Amino acid sequence: MDKNFLEEQFTGIIKFTPPLYKQRYQFVKDLVGKYKPKKVADLGCAECTLLQMLKFCSCIEVLAGLDICATVMKENMHRLSPLPGDYLQPAERPLTVTLHQGSIAHKDPCMLGFDLVTCIELIEHLEQSELKKFPEVVFGFMAPRIVVISTPNSEFNTLLPGKALFRHPDHKFEWNQVQFQSWALETARHYDYSVEFTGVGHPPTGMENVGFCTQIGVFVRKYPQTSESAQSEKPAEAVYKTVFRAVYPSLKDEKYLKNAVVSEVIFTAQNIKRSLLDCLVAEHEEYNDDPVERKFQFQPSMNCFSEDLGKLVVEKSMEPFVNGNVVYIPLTTIFSFPKVNRLCGTLEKLCKLIAGKVTLSSDGSAVMFDTELENEEN
Ligand code: SAH
Repeated sequence: MDKNFLEEQFTGIIKFTPPLYKQRYQFVKDLVGKYKPKKVADLGCAECTLLQMLKFCSCIEVLAGLDICATVMKENMHRLSPLPGDYLQPAERPLTVTLHQGSIAHKDPCMLGFDLVTCIELIEHLEQSELKKFPEVVFGFMAPRIVVISTPNSEFNTLLPGKALFRHPDHKFEWNQVQFQSWALETARHYDYSVEFTGVGHPPTGMENVGFCTQIGVFVRKYPQTSESAQSEKPAEAVYKTVFRAVYPSLKDEKYLKNAVVSEVIFTAQNIKRSLLDCLVAEHEEYNDDPVERKFQFQPSMNCFSEDLGKLVVEKSMEPFVNGNVVYIPLTTIFSFPKVNRLCGTLEKLCKLIAGKVTLSSDGSAVMFDTELENEEN
């Protein structure tokens, strides 16, 4: 809804590249890059464009949007759903995206526990009564570590084309720099936050005194939240309506972790098998030896391992070998490969995750492959 009509219609005087709304979103993205919040709520999220950008920030595990208007959120909310690729290659981090319909003038427990709260071009849409309640809800009740608030700078309006009073018909007010900064400073003081002012959309050379087209306040809570203060004032009941919820597949979920580990184990074991058989064939050709009867020492290619893991493989002599038609690849060898190691953490976990999914030797210590066939279970 709010690309701010006039800002986007500049024909002669000023044209922002990239468009101002993208600069605002980029500002938030940079803030996420700086503070690495895990839980982010976007208040007045409208058609969820910012949330769509933020879902790609790998530090974020919980994303929530709030808007008073469900219709505007519903237009594009399908874009917040996981894509087929998210299932094929689940991310390591968990991610839940939720959209709520409700007013920022009301407190709802679902808005507790966020690290970063963004209010991009929201406050100027609030009625006087809502604006009055806004600081208590956002800074007093939600009390995230960081709050970012952007709003039009009315001093810049003289540079915009058109004669409209405000940049958007739904704006209830537009503040100049002093008005915004005194409101922000008073709010920060009252709720123990520090605030710094900046903006996006530079004024033309020689007109710097008008300030940024969009003014921004970044509030940082001065003291860490104690569990006591976090719980001091929980409202009894939920007042927001949840209109969307997506839980992304992640390796934190054992179901997806199992699939990823089984695929990686089979892939790794097949590579080892191939190298082993290639070596045996080469030796056989050289010495006219009988490769199948011979217990063969596998020398892993050093560049497949980190230095430490490489030593581990060699020192413990984790040797894959061929016996009859079967190739045995010890789980310890497979576990020493960085990706398997990272996915599982411990050898015990590896054994647990592949149980029943990969054919193992009778003592459970090695993956078995037929020399002719690929491992076909699963
Ligand atoms: N943040 C978006 C949209 C800003 S427009 C962007 O940057 O593009 C402001 C949004 O605030 C609108 O979608 C409007 O529906 C919503 N809004 C207005 N009053 C609200 C209130 N009291 N509580 C929550 N959202 C509100």
